[in-house]
Amino acid sequence: MEGVTLEIKENRFIKDFISEQDQMFIEMVRGFVDEVIMPIRREIEQSGRSDFKLIEDLQRKLIPLGFLSGFLPEEHGGMGIDSALTISILAEEFARGDASFFCSVAGGWWGMRPAIFAENKAVLDEFAPRFLGEDLYVACFAMTEPSGGCNIENMDMHGLGIKTRARLDGDEWVINGSKVWPTNSGIADLYLVVCNTDPDLGDDGIAMIYVPAPIDGFSFGRFEDKAGFRASREGDFYFDNVRVPREYRVAGPGRDAELLHDNIVFARIFSSAWAVGIAQGAFDEVLAFTRDKLAAGKPIRQHTIAAGMLADMAIGIQVGRDAYVNAAYLYDHPEIYGPRHSKQMLSRASIAKVFCCDMAVAATNRAMELMGSYGYVTDYHVEKYWRDVKIIQLWEGGAQLGRLDVARGIYDYDQFHRNEIYEKLHLKK
Ligand SMILES: Cc1cc2nc3c(=O)[nH]c(=O)nc-3n(C[C@H](O)[C@H](O)[C@H](O)COP(=O)(O)OP(=O)(O)OC[C@H]3O[C@@H](n4cnc5c(N)ncnc54)[C@H](O)[C@@H]3O)c2cc1C
Repeated sequence: MEGVTLEIKENRFIKDFISEQDQMFIEMVRGFVDEVIMPIRREIEQSGRSDFKLIEDLQRKLIPLGFLSGFLPEEHGGMGIDSALTISILAEEFARGDASFFCSVAGGWWGMRPAIFAENKAVLDEFAPRFLGEDLYVACFAMTEPSGGCNIENMDMHGLGIKTRARLDGDEWVINGSKVWPTNSGIADLYLVVCNTDPDLGDDGIAMIYVPAPIDGFSFGRFEDKAGFRASREGDFYFDNVRVPREYRVAGPGRDAELLHDNIVFARIFSSAWAVGIAQGAFDEVLAFTRDKLAAGKPIRQHTIAAGMLADMAIGIQVGRDAYVNAAYLYDHPEIYGPRHSKQMLSRASIAKVFCCDMAVAATNRAMELMGSYGYVTDYHVEKYWRDVKIIQLWEGGAQLGRLDVARGIYDYDQFHRNEIYEKLHLKK
């Protein structure tokens, strides 16, 4: 790869923001991606279309490195990696290789954060040790429902979009409802389920409850067949009077809603990093290809029109990286920048996500253009990055709710804003 790039990879991030321990962890993951994932990207995709054996074997390789439990607090046997910045940089590194591979292992990180922030001792005492075992133990954050993912993420809905019900019966929660799309559906050992106890209570009705699997009344549908993101599995599942202990609720009325919004903010930040990583992966491919392939007698990248396109890609990737690093830093310092679940923080995270996803979708598209038909075949992986990146733009609020959430942090934007004229027209009907 000599001569492909002059860029000093270590200088992509301002290292002062990251602890020495986290820096070592990032370097370990970078090495794992370069040495283990990159050479077998096609095989990983093929495994995702068949028996998943290769993918699970690769995930097992992460166990001794502490990757599947690193997010747990040290007193629960983990490495205490709780920095959104560190986790986002890891997401970028993994996405250079295969974003969906990281999506599956990140289920634990995403699903357990609310219990960690809430310091829910019952949940941590019960489930944290299981992440420390010798075999895979994965979690799932189950939010999306058939009636729409955005209806749950939309702060202005105050929980009204959540149809999955949780009712307290003695010392147990009884859960009824269904979820669609969560990563690790059907294979996770532990599910964090977003429920509503009473839609009339607004945010106080929002309850996040841990459900271990298998358990009576909990059943699964089929895995989805997707355009990309093949190393992770998504599907639907159903709760029919599923009973769990009352202490499996994350925190309580009000605090659960805050922690749900916090988890959405966090996911938007690391989704931005994911998009940057995919764009970087495609960029690395196209940079090498256009150095080696000639057009009109000289390397494609020596044509001014190609240099301009490559420069635009590099600008987008670095500005996107700076955006997510900035948002993650703010998120990691609520004592200075305010609560993580605030509208302002959601807005900053959404700025990063909307920008990074639009940028990465365009960058993978441009990379393919510069490679001609070779961009469209599996040998060069650019078509994989192109297929993978689109879902990141669609999930976590999509490009539309993402923009509304940007506005929410800037002025008193209210989805259900009413005025006199509206009310008159409405009453006339
Ligand atoms: C590979 C993959 C992994 C996933 N992983 C998970 C997971 O781990 N956990 C989980 O819970 N879910 C997961 N999802 C689901 C995903 O987060 C949702 O699909 C996403 O949030 C969008 O929801 P939806 O598809 O129901 O679309 P909808 O919510 O129906 O939105 C459809 C369109 O309407 C727009 N829209 C929605 N509301 C508004 C509004 N108020 N104003 C204006 N426009 C609006 C949206 O932006 C979008 O353009 C995953 C999906 C995939 C494909």
